[in-house]
Amino acid sequence: MELATFIDRFSRQIMLRGIGVKGQLRLFKSRVAIIGCGATGTAVAELLARAGVGFVRVVDRDVVELSNLHRTHLFKEVDALESIPKAYAAAQRLHEINSSIAVEYVVDSVSADNIENLIRDADLVIDGSDNVETRLLINEACIVLDKPWVMIGVEGWFGMVKFIDAKKGACYQCLVGERYRRRGNVCELIGVANVTVSLATSIATTLALKYLLGLPVEEELFIIDALNLSIEKAKVLRNPRCSACVKREFIFLKRGRERVRYACGANIVEILPNKALKIDFSKLEEANGFERIRIYDNKVAHIKTGDGDVLLLDNGKALIRNSDLSKAESLYNNILEKLEKLGSIAYL
Ligand SMILES: [Zn+2]
Repeated sequence: MELATFIDRFSRQIMLRGIGVKGQLRLFKSRVAIIGCGATGTAVAELLARAGVGFVRVVDRDVVELSNLHRTHLFKEVDALESIPKAYAAAQRLHEINSSIAVEYVVDSVSADNIENLIRDADLVIDGSDNVETRLLINEACIVLDKPWVMIGVEGWFGMVKFIDAKKGACYQCLVGERYRRRGNVCELIGVANVTVSLATSIATTLALKYLLGLPVEEELFIIDALNLSIEKAKVLRNPRCSACVKREFIFLKRGRERVRYACGANIVEILPNKALKIDFSKLEEANGFERIRIYDNKVAHIKTGDGDVLLLDNGKALIRNSDLSKAESLYNNILEKLEKLGSIAYL
């Protein structure tokens, strides 16, 4: 974009105290990774893209569903009807909103194996996840890589937001306490009011923009009660015995995983390949026996079958919905066999 067009586009923002042309250029050079592309992730992504943050990466393992739409930004009914991967749909909309910035989408679950690569090149990480375990993983990776991040939690009418820079103050483990270290996967569905999401993500994006602009950033915990319309701030102190930011034990980063795993809350079976491989999806449409095949940029294939709904990544990892463990595994083996016959798998 030419400088004159750039200045015109952001003129109402450039005139603000704390921004100016210098600040606007600074935002354009900034890189943000958003982990999770649901209610909170899409709202922050939209605001950052509109504000002119130059690089936004969105990461999510799910597809858009009708029950997401009351609280998410960026998604439309057609995305839900066609089960479009959230990260892909979000990236398309972000590009339509601001085509001058770089938007990268990653369809994948976030785990100890990939979190560091997802955030390594970012100046700031945004928590768009919906669970404590993923936040503890983001927390550890951000301590190891020395990255600041913004935590956002919403449930019902309540929200919590905190800018976390573990070099300077309390980390997320300090906030939630040590008892969460042993908690397993929680299988529960929670409701949330869309206005809670808006309030929480407005605060979170303000913190993000202030950090990227080099302005002082509040490090208190923001506690939002949308029903009574109150926002309070609380100081969080570092736990002098914190397992993450003091003892640097990083148990979530070191946690191994089973090759086949059932994520109960999301109703997804995740399967890793037996050995490292790379799939070329260009011939997949020649395979028969599937209800529908859709391929996204030769990176991800969405394969619908009677036994489950498969998102297959080019590294051989699969996320399978509407299935159970045994059915999912035979479905996975069946798909890989077909790809093998097409000569589409290269073992590394
Ligand atoms: Zn800590």
